[in-house]
Amino acid sequence: MTMTRLTLAFLCAFLEHPVWSRSSNEVNLLDTISTVGELDWTASADGWEQLPVNLNTSLTVQAFQVCNVNGPNYDNWLVTEWVPRREAHHVLVELKFTLRDCSSLPDQTRNCKETFNFLYAESDGSPPQRPYERHFVKKSTIAADKIFTQIDVGDRVLKLNTRVIQLPRLTNQGFYLGFQDTGACVALVSVRAFYKRCPETIRHLAKFPATVSNTKLQKIPGTCVSGAIVKEPPQLHCDADGKWVVPIGRCVCKAGYAATGEKCRMCLQGTYKDKAEHAACLTCPAHSTNTRLGATSCECDPGFNRAFSDPASYPCSSPPSAPQDVISKVNATSVILEWSAPQNSGEREDVKYQVLCQLCDSLSCASCGDSVHFLPRKDGLTKRTVTITRLKAHSNYSFTVGAINGVSHLTPNIPPSSTTVVVTTNQAVPAQINEPTVKLQGKDNILLKWQPPRPPNGVILEYEIKYYEKAQQDTTFLIVRTKETQRILGSLKPNTVHVFEVRARTSAGYGAYSKPKELNLAISPEPGLMLAAVAGGTAIFVVPFCLLIVCFCRRRRRSLAARLDLEEQIPIKSAHVNLRPKKNCVDPLTYEDPNKAILEFTQEIDASSIKIEKVIGSGESGEVCRGRLKLPGEPEVAVAIKTLKAGYSEKQRRDFLSEASIMGQFQHPNIIRLEGVVTKSTPVMIVTEYMENGSLDSFLRKNDGQFTAIQLLGMLRGIAAGMKYLADMNYIHRDLAARNVLVNGNLMCKVSDFGLSRGLEDDPQAVYTTHGGKIPIRWTAPEAITLRKFTSASDVWSFGIVMWEVMSYGERPYWDMNNQEVIQAIDEGYRLPTPMDCPIALHHLMLDCWQKEHANRPSFTQLLAYLEKLLQTPSLLKATPGTPQGRPAGSLLERNPPEYTTFYSVAEWLEAIKMGEYKENFINAGYVPWSSVAHMTLEDLRRVGVTLAGHQKRIMTSIQALRTQMGNTA
Ligand code: AMP
Repeated sequence: MTMTRLTLAFLCAFLEHPVWSRSSNEVNLLDTISTVGELDWTASADGWEQLPVNLNTSLTVQAFQVCNVNGPNYDNWLVTEWVPRREAHHVLVELKFTLRDCSSLPDQTRNCKETFNFLYAESDGSPPQRPYERHFVKKSTIAADKIFTQIDVGDRVLKLNTRVIQLPRLTNQGFYLGFQDTGACVALVSVRAFYKRCPETIRHLAKFPATVSNTKLQKIPGTCVSGAIVKEPPQLHCDADGKWVVPIGRCVCKAGYAATGEKCRMCLQGTYKDKAEHAACLTCPAHSTNTRLGATSCECDPGFNRAFSDPASYPCSSPPSAPQDVISKVNATSVILEWSAPQNSGEREDVKYQVLCQLCDSLSCASCGDSVHFLPRKDGLTKRTVTITRLKAHSNYSFTVGAINGVSHLTPNIPPSSTTVVVTTNQAVPAQINEPTVKLQGKDNILLKWQPPRPPNGVILEYEIKYYEKAQQDTTFLIVRTKETQRILGSLKPNTVHVFEVRARTSAGYGAYSKPKELNLAISPEPGLMLAAVAGGTAIFVVPFCLLIVCFCRRRRRSLAARLDLEEQIPIKSAHVNLRPKKNCVDPLTYEDPNKAILEFTQEIDASSIKIEKVIGSGESGEVCRGRLKLPGEPEVAVAIKTLKAGYSEKQRRDFLSEASIMGQFQHPNIIRLEGVVTKSTPVMIVTEYMENGSLDSFLRKNDGQFTAIQLLGMLRGIAAGMKYLADMNYIHRDLAARNVLVNGNLMCKVSDFGLSRGLEDDPQAVYTTHGGKIPIRWTAPEAITLRKFTSASDVWSFGIVMWEVMSYGERPYWDMNNQEVIQAIDEGYRLPTPMDCPIALHHLMLDCWQKEHANRPSFTQLLAYLEKLLQTPSLLKATPGTPQGRPAGSLLERNPPEYTTFYSVAEWLEAIKMGEYKENFINAGYVPWSSVAHMTLEDLRRVGVTLAGHQKRIMTSIQALRTQMGNTA
């Protein structure tokens, strides 16, 4: 009894401590702590004794104790009631017990033990029979980690032991637990049998059922919660410890629903969610609304629509208002129309334009039909300009420019808003006259008759008859002018074949001569008359006729002079005609011995002074390398080395070196500098200064959008300076293009690729023309293509193309049009439009370079001066194509570009400030028309996803500047 009391006293001490917490992932099958009343366990007589212990008013613990330590061979069994295993196969048993230290007991307890046995018996319900050993399987011999002595109890030191024992896999319906005491002093404070279970849970909007743990990790599939759909099949893993681990996949709230915690809730009225991937319900975009819960889109307000391709996040929009300020520029029988964007774009960025042409007389107008030609086309225009060619001269046309956008077709009954202009075309040169008829009249006269040209293209001012003896065709002819459509010509040489041609003139000039009409005159005129006419050049016919006699010269220079005399009414005002070089560039091919030209204009370099480092390009003649040049007494410099590939012919060598002979004559900071040549050893080399950034076209393409207008202008200034120098040297480049300009590390541009002899064979852009020469069509002036008339003025045309290449960061001129289309378009008056963000002033300059009449183009001296003026007055560059004020006006140096810039859409604006990457963010957040950003705050910017401080600053600065401008100009 003493032992018993000691044990209980201990129990009271330890039970005051909160050791009973239970984990939520454990499911109890048996728990003595929570059992109310006595436990119906089976115990051997005089063995285990059940002792209810009141811990406090609310909790009584059913403990068992035994302390038979005096005699030998005790066999005290304590067997639990039957415990059903339920869903579990892996059951754990937790024992809490105390054990008394045998050495602390008096002598008579020498049989005392300090262990007891823990056993179990599987059973479907029937109780185990004695002897228990037959039915129970021993699981463990339980020893205490902490044993107690009486002194411990006195000090109220806790010595509670806890053991958790895993039973082997159970298969029967339930089990019994057994505790066999063989002479220990033990108190079994609590017995708990339990299993572990991963509790029912929701993760990433997927529900996972409660799952009984086993010894392995189990992969459990989840099911999406209501309102959610599978994004990626959701799975969780239930571990042996009853914990969920390693989530895979997830569900997302479907369209019309958004997540609140682990639930999907319907979008509220006035909000929508169109895609499952989106996280939140958004407020209906402008001009739309909804009154439903769970909406996937919002309905457009009356008068507004959404195009099929518009995402639900776009505001509903309306068709645009009419284009504004349509202006026309008539050039003979073509018209260029330009206009400003509609005041109201319908809040869309996809405004396009269509142009309707009508030919009008004093009574009515009728469609122009297919006879006129629109460049680039008549509808679907994105740029606000169109060129209309093949119009009738001297006629009235009405052009109606309509604006449509992506929702215009949704209101088919409402025609697009449009603006109409009436244009009168100028006179053009008359059409070719049909072959005239000739009739002999009397002895030595003939009557020449012809029909007026069809179409006349204006008022016919006069006809010009040219006639000559066939044998003298190239040297002598006679000219007679008349207002009639017939003419008597006399004093013709008998027995001679004469040829007659007629052409007509309007104020726009002469048309083409008719087909020549031949007549053999079997008559005998008065001798001497013809001779007098040829020698004196005097008028034979009295007013209103006029006779001119002109001697043709086979040599070109004379022929030009003759033509100037003939066309004295049409003045040729060309800077180029008067160009007088300070010093002429010498064509090395004029040297009988081309080696002499090389000796004269280049410096021979010893190959040992050159170190080749790397191949950087390849041309027709061989590779281009980067290397270093160390000349005696000079510092080592980086150089580019062009090599002539092995197996060359003497002609190839001469052609190759002719480039060096030409380059060697130039000395200008914007012309690539020749260091020297290697001709005395192989490979033959041309050594030039090294340009770190290579050719301009690829350099610009690599750095698209990276430069300011001033930087680009600086590049153009350099090229113009180099070209002015070449023009002053009377050198015509003939292949000026961005690919033939090199850029050094300081962005300095230098003109390269010389050689009178190269004939452009090396240039991949050059194509053979009908004349057999090779010409880079896109870069070449029309007269150079058709007449092979290469002048500094044709170089100026190419410079205009280079300007366009530079301002469009290396875009291919005329894009994918083929060469024939380019030639035709140019002939019909089409010119490359303004590149994006290109200041209007520069596009005007390009247009000046592309004047059809070469004499009307500026000279390189004028170009350079103007570019320098622009550089000194950058405010002149502010106008871009988006500016309503930025329309062409005035001539080269008189134009007065506008002072400020506005934009028509947020996207345009973001592109302009190089923040185009945020276009989507702004549009998705509903900021589409430009005006909608005017009130944005930094907080708004963050909300649309502009998180980088630098970007926020750039955008805010621009908003503020433009806000001020809007205020100033409102
Ligand atoms: P070319 O045969 O002159 O057209 O040269 C072929 C390529 O070599 C050019 O497109 C450039 O990329 C490169 N290249 C030619 N000359 C130089 C140079 N002086 N400095 C740097 N790269 C050059």
